[in-house]
Amino acid sequence: MKIVRFLEKGNIGFGLIDSTGKKVFSSDALFEVNKYEDLISFIDVIDMKKLRLEYNFDDLHLCAPIIPTKNILCIGKNYYDHILEFDGSMEDIERVKENPIFFSKALTSIIGPMEDIDSHSNMTNELDYEAELGVIISKDCQNVSYEQALDYVFGYTIINDVTARDLQKKHQQWFKGKSLDTFCPSGPWVVTKDEIEDSNNLNITLSVNGEVRQKANTKLMIHDIAKQISVLSQGMTLKAGDVIATGTPQGVGMGFKPPKFLQVGDEVTITIEKIGRLTNKIV
Ligand code: MG
Repeated sequence: MKIVRFLEKGNIGFGLIDSTGKKVFSSDALFEVNKYEDLISFIDVIDMKKLRLEYNFDDLHLCAPIIPTKNILCIGKNYYDHILEFDGSMEDIERVKENPIFFSKALTSIIGPMEDIDSHSNMTNELDYEAELGVIISKDCQNVSYEQALDYVFGYTIINDVTARDLQKKHQQWFKGKSLDTFCPSGPWVVTKDEIEDSNNLNITLSVNGEVRQKANTKLMIHDIAKQISVLSQGMTLKAGDVIATGTPQGVGMGFKPPKFLQVGDEVTITIEKIGRLTNKIV
């Protein structure tokens, strides 16, 4: 099922999109849930026919569907061609193949599908985009094996790992350049994992004002989703609702010669097969 989080008369609730995509059903209980953990246990037993609140999808004010307990967990350099577009060497690739690179984005950077990306033009001249598959964890876990890792996935969404390249370089650690307010657009909804047969084989594209910049498939990841969950969870608890941004393929603005950074007024659209489409504007 597809789960949206939306604002209605000052309250935020969860809702389920029906098969036509035009109606959303919810209940008082789905407006009282504010932790993902509770939503997940609830969703398991939900009977769509018993949801009394009905909305037209087009009338809804959608919010970010994800509310992790910790910073958004991210993997860097997870597609070969993306490493190469940053002038990475074979040595870089060998190093990355051995151990994934992890970093995080501040929780405060999360925005929803109807919100704008702040260009922060007083701070950066190198605003860039990164299309990524987002994975949502279903239950608290630690020390998960590779074989069991996908049992801990609740669902998937789309994430734009917006990055100020100049800040990323200036501060060496990537955290600051990737954590400015509005730098984590997400949504438009969460698709539960039962709807996606193989999350390691999904087409992913990103366009800016209609011009396709990134076009790849999640099967090209260096470390697949199970590996990311397994390695992250060693000695570190992953909580229900935590989110992993699984890395971006080739075609980021920085990779073009000359670079194609984002400008005020640009519209960035990410499409991931079986999930949907996320569009945000730069202001
Ligand atoms: Mg990224």
